[in-house]
Amino acid sequence: MKHVIIGNGIAGVCAAEAIRKLDATADITLIGDETFPPYSRPMISHVLDGSQPHGKLPIRSEHFYDEQKITPLLGRRAGGIDVANRQVLLADDARIDFDRLLIASGADPRPLKAEGLDHKNIFYMRTQDHAKQLVAALDGARRAVVLGGGLVGFKAAYGLLKRGLAVTMLITSGYPLSMQVDETAGHMILDELIRHGLTVEVGVSVCAFEGNGSVQAAVTDAGTRLPCDMVIIGKGVLPCRTLIPRGQIEVDLGVIVDEHLQTSAPGIFAAGDVAEMVDIARVCPWVNALWPEAACQGRVAGLNMAGRPVAYPGSLSRNVMRVFDLDVLTVGNANPRKDSGCRVLQAGGAAQGYYRRLVLRDDVLVGAVMINRIEQGGVLRSLIENRMPIRLPPERLMTPGFNFGQLLL
Ligand SMILES: Cc1cc2nc3c(=O)[nH]c(=O)nc-3n(C[C@H](O)[C@H](O)[C@H](O)COP(=O)(O)OP(=O)(O)OC[C@H]3O[C@@H](n4cnc5c(N)ncnc54)[C@H](O)[C@@H]3O)c2cc1C
Repeated sequence: MKHVIIGNGIAGVCAAEAIRKLDATADITLIGDETFPPYSRPMISHVLDGSQPHGKLPIRSEHFYDEQKITPLLGRRAGGIDVANRQVLLADDARIDFDRLLIASGADPRPLKAEGLDHKNIFYMRTQDHAKQLVAALDGARRAVVLGGGLVGFKAAYGLLKRGLAVTMLITSGYPLSMQVDETAGHMILDELIRHGLTVEVGVSVCAFEGNGSVQAAVTDAGTRLPCDMVIIGKGVLPCRTLIPRGQIEVDLGVIVDEHLQTSAPGIFAAGDVAEMVDIARVCPWVNALWPEAACQGRVAGLNMAGRPVAYPGSLSRNVMRVFDLDVLTVGNANPRKDSGCRVLQAGGAAQGYYRRLVLRDDVLVGAVMINRIEQGGVLRSLIENRMPIRLPPERLMTPGFNFGQLLL
């Protein structure tokens, strides 16, 4: 059986390992346009904030491909898929035959449209190369501008503050991480960042950069000029789906997959940041561009490709972060629409030094946010994942020391 995987990230790697576990003789080819062995993208933020060295990025040894008997085609880009002839078309015109194909091409940073983007020291933060360039640019930099308050923008601002830079963050929503947390939690996080020196401008966009080769200022659409030595653009990501032949493989925001992570084309699978599937908490198709999701989806796709049918229950947003003195945990849909019919319970807040928010649809927990006292986050996540009905008054779950064993009685 000839397996081809497009994408050398965590989804592609976990798929290759799963195939190899089930089939010692399968032919596995891994195509990746980056030239390095697999590495951790989340770790890039720790390299930026100085808590980890660059050498900690790799997640597999340099002998990984030999050990797993994988043929790596690194530094090669897949340009298209010939579904009828079961071939991947590489950008250099080579064609690779497949019996089973996995699309694990991940996501690209959402591009910014602004004048002067070609000045030096304006970065996206996605790849190992970006990490190297960012750390090099810190030398002598005093002021930075971060565009976007999503996961990457937030981590960029946090890292630069920890490095001692004066950071201005431009966000369109009123607080960072607005996809992950509600307003109360968002403002607790924002206040913590401001307490450590962050300047925030809300509701403005950058329309141009000025400089003399290197960036010296970001100019906003409100006409403000923000002097800076470096800029990080963190305005979200978009699934890498340009290679997907439209009309032959169904695509929405991401590549649509069924419960076996198979696309609309038989024998072609998708996993990770590029894939769209039902979200357990939202109960609708969603792209959850997250590391543990990509790893699990890769593994499950690999098992299915190797012939063991395994259903994937759906994706789920989850994250644990430390923001200076705050521990933050988010799971599921913590910010349902007002007309969703969900019930929201909240306790604590900035004055109490902790916060807990639970979101229920009927008697099932669908979202949780915790700031400090996050020890029970794992149980909450498991309740959400397993859609376990809460047969007690849900207010009782709000007590930080609640004994979850009572739910099983
Ligand atoms: C700075 C940063 C911090 C993050 N922090 C967190 C976090 O705290 N928690 C969390 O859960 N997630 C976090 N993430 C997100 C997480 O890293 C991603 O969800 C995960 O890496 C996705 O894995 P993937 O394998 O789907 O895609 P990727 O890691 O993007 O890998 C896809 C690979 O495919 C390659 N590729 C794309 N197109 C082609 C093509 N046509 N031909 C050949 N190769 C191609 C890409 O270059 C890439 O190497 C963070 C991401 C970043 C950048």
